[in-house]
Amino acid sequence: PAALRILGLPLDQLLGGAAIDPRCAAVREDGSAFGSDEHPALVALRTGDAVNDVVMGVSRPDGSRVWILVNATPLTARDGAVERVYSTFEDITPRVSLARELEQQARTDYLTGAANRRGLTERLAIEFARVRRDPSDVFSVLALDLDHFKHVNDAHGHATGDAVLVHMAALMRQASRAIDVVARIGGEEFTLLLPDTGLAAALARAERLREQIEATPLQLDGRSLPVTVSIGVSTVAPGDASIDAVLARADRALYEAKGAGRNTVRVQLPPAVDA
Ligand code: GH3
Ligand code: MG
Ligand code: MG
Repeated sequence: PAALRILGLPLDQLLGGAAIDPRCAAVREDGSAFGSDEHPALVALRTGDAVNDVVMGVSRPDGSRVWILVNATPLTARDGAVERVYSTFEDITPRVSLARELEQQARTDYLTGAANRRGLTERLAIEFARVRRDPSDVFSVLALDLDHFKHVNDAHGHATGDAVLVHMAALMRQASRAIDVVARIGGEEFTLLLPDTGLAAALARAERLREQIEATPLQLDGRSLPVTVSIGVSTVAPGDASIDAVLARADRALYEAKGAGRNTVRVQLPPAVDA
């Protein structure tokens, strides 16, 4: 009964089933598939060694996924040959779900739900590695900083300041594709990572985002609070030794945007590389 409940199968489908049954198609925690001969029971049968604590994600007929912890112990006959395998499994779905949620939280900014610095750093590393493999690939980074945010806090209080940050993250998400990464990396500093986006497109995105933010004041308690941002733009270049070079250019561009009077977009081109 426990196996039926865990696997979500009726008895007639469980009896006589085989570990190589495609319905048993299982995945590891990283999402990769178990080969049909990698099932713990089959490994124990083949090698004669016990297989312990293998985590498998199994699809139920209703489409949900259950996570099980599998152990397989081979039993040998008198002549030493492996005769049969006892396999046990336990439902660890709640544990796996909680672990995933915590992993997710560790990469997420609590206030705005955007990625935090850690989440952004991981995604930047993936993008940078991608460009390294295929130099025709490209990505851009937008560094955003709210203008005169100290004034918002001073004039309206910290809670209203927080509401502005949430508003800002929502506007950035609205203006983003699914592959973009919206991140809050500091107090009122945000980063937008734009995979598969060159300089011209990134500049256009930045200008549009700046306009949208200017045109969409936060509505709070019957008040309308205007917000503006300054944005620095940079695009990865062949000479960039690390992601830091790309981020440093975006920061310098942001600094220039502030110097140019705020509520504006600036770009920093990479240093020219000799052919
Ligand atoms: P500028 O246009 O030059 O960017 O001016 P600014 O006032 O935005 O810049 P500054 O860096 O001087 O001020 C940032 C302020 O952000 C200071 C700090 O009180 C506020 N801040 C930082 N984190 C938070 C937060 O989590 N919530 C709120 N409400 N305010 C924050
Ligand atoms: Mg700042
Ligand atoms: Mg600021």
